[in-house]
Amino acid sequence: MNSIETTENSAPAGLYIHIPFCRSKCAYCDFYSITDRSQAAGYLHALSREMEQTREFAPLFDTVYVGGGTPSCLDTRQLAELLHRVRKTFPIAPDAEITVEVNPGDVDAVFMRGLRDAGVNRVSVGVQSFDDSILKSLGRRHDGREGREAVEAARTAGFDNIGVDLIYGVPGQTYELWRETMEAALGFNPEHLSCYELTIERGTPFHSRIERGELSLPGEAQAYRFFSMTSEFLEQRGYSHYEVSNFARENAFISRHNHKYWDHSPCLGLGPAAHSFNENRRWWNHRCLELYLRDVNEGRAPLAGREDLSAEELQLEALYFGFRTKRGIHGPDFRKRYGIDLFREKGPALCSLRDEGFVTLEDEFLAPTRRGLALADRLCLL
Ligand code: SF4
Repeated sequence: MNSIETTENSAPAGLYIHIPFCRSKCAYCDFYSITDRSQAAGYLHALSREMEQTREFAPLFDTVYVGGGTPSCLDTRQLAELLHRVRKTFPIAPDAEITVEVNPGDVDAVFMRGLRDAGVNRVSVGVQSFDDSILKSLGRRHDGREGREAVEAARTAGFDNIGVDLIYGVPGQTYELWRETMEAALGFNPEHLSCYELTIERGTPFHSRIERGELSLPGEAQAYRFFSMTSEFLEQRGYSHYEVSNFARENAFISRHNHKYWDHSPCLGLGPAAHSFNENRRWWNHRCLELYLRDVNEGRAPLAGREDLSAEELQLEALYFGFRTKRGIHGPDFRKRYGIDLFREKGPALCSLRDEGFVTLEDEFLAPTRRGLALADRLCLL
């Protein structure tokens, strides 16, 4: 598979760059990363080559997201060079949202100022919790103090768009501990909060411990209570619960990059395990640094697979994503894009979802209620 996809879609595209290194592996994590960072320089060189291979992907990008793995495993000089290379290779809008994920254990005010100087205008801090016992059980290598210092350092460096990532539903985490962590996060007045429910992925140490009966996760009722208390708590503090796991202090701080995944905008992913999407096609790179380096260094696209989504599959995905966002689904736009009149074809099912309090139907928008958001993944099966 050698062809490089290009988009004729006029919507600006999103660019994702995967940094596949972590200093250590967290017990719950299924993202592709390795702890041997000796190949970082060679990897950055290969990334430049992959950029060259894909430079025609889109006429314009208005979001760049450097994630991982742990981008802050790299130093600021490496990150600045990477972003310089991005700007030289791709047409990046002057007002593009440029995000870098950081791990609290890696950063201080000097690092954060280096990111600002490199043109980063949004930073996502992987705090996960401010409670040391929870961080230890997650296998994180930083403590609550370092989490606080990282967010403070971002503010001191002048960032005015800071995201704080948190996890709830951790074995041993009480509602009170979770509330304290949210309270501590709000002390920094972050522009954005991501609150993820812990999910257990096969092959992780957490999964093995659950299989052995050493750990247990909250049941469905407890999980719902975590979800609803999070939503209520943060909305009372002025945050908009705009997607199942995401909250923004103002609409201007809604993650523009994530929205591209949710509305089927063209997205180019670079690096091992990165996924790309355009029109009705999705393709993904090798989930293995060696295979990725081999292909890129031999001049081939490092592709592991691709799929062409049928009209029905695209519709189902669009419903899935739409039910996960507070904005919901706009009937006329959906019909134009996916060729189905939802209100006509699914009328009775939608009315019963509305009558049961899962969705609202107003002004041609089909939008989930808070209860609906909690069950968003199931609503699309209507
Ligand atoms: S959670 Fe983040 S820091 Fe931890 S192993 Fe996964 S990618 Fe690395």
